[in-house]
Amino acid sequence: FSEDIAGKVVLITGASSGIGELLLLALLPPSEYMCYTLSSTISQSSWDTDNSLAYEYAKRGACLVLAARRERSLQDVAERARNLGSPDVVVVHADVSKVDDCRRVVDQTMNHFGRLDHLVNNAGIMSLAMLEEVDNVTDFRQVMDINFWGSVYMTRFAAPYLRNSRGRIVVLSSPAAWMPAPRMSFYNASKAAISQFFETLRVEFGPDIGITLVTPGYIESELSQGKFLNKAGKHIVDQEMTAVSSPSTQPLAHNQIIS
Ligand code: NDP
Repeated sequence: FSEDIAGKVVLITGASSGIGELLLLALLPPSEYMCYTLSSTISQSSWDTDNSLAYEYAKRGACLVLAARRERSLQDVAERARNLGSPDVVVVHADVSKVDDCRRVVDQTMNHFGRLDHLVNNAGIMSLAMLEEVDNVTDFRQVMDINFWGSVYMTRFAAPYLRNSRGRIVVLSSPAAWMPAPRMSFYNASKAAISQFFETLRVEFGPDIGITLVTPGYIESELSQGKFLNKAGKHIVDQEMTAVSSPSTQPLAHNQIIS
């Protein structure tokens, strides 16, 4: 986006790691185009970590509200954002799947800053499991609860303030929204829901609140590298990922299908 955001207030969910902490906006061309698709694979080793979501906003002089569950990580991101030029950074410990937490994040933003200009709905989790192998299907409700409902709650509470500031919502969807792949049914459904929900809000909000839907290609992060719900509905990491992976569950070859 091309607007001047110095002094404006930006609230980012899922700011404790990955895309929320790192990258993205610096890669987006300066335009108001509604949907960005990043087609290349991006590895952490190639990240210029100062060209990052939280950090790019910081360098442009925006005030930040950083929300997630891991407070220590948020504090580290906050300290760096301040060093990069953000005039004021607030950390809020919150679980976006809880409606009261989302209300509290927005309330704290307004109490502290008195305005809100950008909401970045970035928090998300991944799941990898064949439906028929799932031990308890209700464990997987959390994929929708966090990825979809978390964005809905945040948007509902933030909307009046974003309307006042003629602000913007940035939403992390995924090419997974339209690309079927084994073991990805819950995650893909959550991203399809996000895409449709926010495309519809674009019509409802009209010119009052801008919506930028981002559908990144594969980006190395905790989520994409092995922190996901397995068939038992438990988070597993790293080496266990290898055991359950197969070629069909490797990261999608976005750059082959997105022109
Ligand atoms: P990470 O796992 O690195 O980051 C996810 C972030 O979400 C973390 O900061 C995590 O913080 C936060 N989060 C998870 N659950 C909750 C919760 N219940 N409440 C609040 N915060 C939560 O993954 P990425 O950076 O890769 O993912 C960011 C977004 O990008 C996701 O929406 C993902 O679906 C999307 N995306 C990622 C792609 C990729 O290839 N990496 C491709 C396409 C889309 P904490 O654990 O501290 O709460």
